[in-house]
Amino acid sequence: LSYLNCVAHIYSMAETPSPSDNNKLAGKVAIITGGASGIGEATARLFAEHGALTVVIADIQDELGHQVATSIGQHRCSYMHCDVTDEEQVKSLVEWTVKSFGRLDIMFSNAGILGSSDQTILNLDLSGYDRLFAINARGMATCVKHAARVMVERRLRGSIVCTASVAASNGGRSRTDYHMSKHAVLGLVRSASMQLGVHGIRVNCVSPYGVVTPLTLHAHKKGAEELENIYETNMSLKGAALTAKHVADAVLFLACNDSEMVTGHDLLVDGGYRIQ
Ligand code: NAD
Repeated sequence: LSYLNCVAHIYSMAETPSPSDNNKLAGKVAIITGGASGIGEATARLFAEHGALTVVIADIQDELGHQVATSIGQHRCSYMHCDVTDEEQVKSLVEWTVKSFGRLDIMFSNAGILGSSDQTILNLDLSGYDRLFAINARGMATCVKHAARVMVERRLRGSIVCTASVAASNGGRSRTDYHMSKHAVLGLVRSASMQLGVHGIRVNCVSPYGVVTPLTLHAHKKGAEELENIYETNMSLKGAALTAKHVADAVLFLACNDSEMVTGHDLLVDGGYRIQ
């Protein structure tokens, strides 16, 4: 009996998460762009749960951003207005974070838009293309640039995570500009990871598909449940909808030391959509 008790005890120990499993970001300072909503918001909540010293949410939706920061708790989360298309605002965001909290360990460069659904190559509206590129590609690079500069200057072995998409490696029947911009994110991640590895800085991306957020709800003009069902039929994994929390879990993995030798990687979080 005592042998069985001992085995049962060992099994129960293996199944019970150790305190460090819930504390993967203890003492870390993170910035999340596009953190007022969707994937960014879910990631901010998860980072705070994992003991981050502070999470700075950066977005252009000020009211929502303040609400999210307040609900996470002002001792763990702050909101700052930052339009990622404006380099001065990005620079100020990074400088303010480092001045206020003494360091920057994680940049989750996530802000993005889908743009118009009408962007076939024959119909490409170049002003829409420029606006989308300014956020999804140029804005993404600007955030990586300023985070990396501070990390290099202060010799911080930080982690930078960008949000790409399954669109980063697929073509599309429309949204040509969106697909192009997400391909650019992969180029950014691969180049930056090669250049920053010498400083101990890792750069990776997550590539989601089919998460019901304001972005996808607005684009598809459907109810949340209907959209979830549509996405599920397109994935190979059945029986559960992909949520922003699933993507946040992948971002957490890339942000924390569990992935300390992972860099230049594109982590699909798509319920098996792209593999089919
Ligand atoms: P979301 O609309 O809920 O969140 C995007 C956030 O980015 C918003 O809060 C928005 O205000 C912010 N933002 C937009 N322009 C900005 C700017 N110029 N400066 C700062 N912030 C800005 O959408 P989401 O689905 O959470 O999208 C987050 C990221 O995930 C995007 O990069 C998107 O392309 C990517 N993505 C989402 C899906 C999905 O299925 N939802 C799939 C693949 C990729």
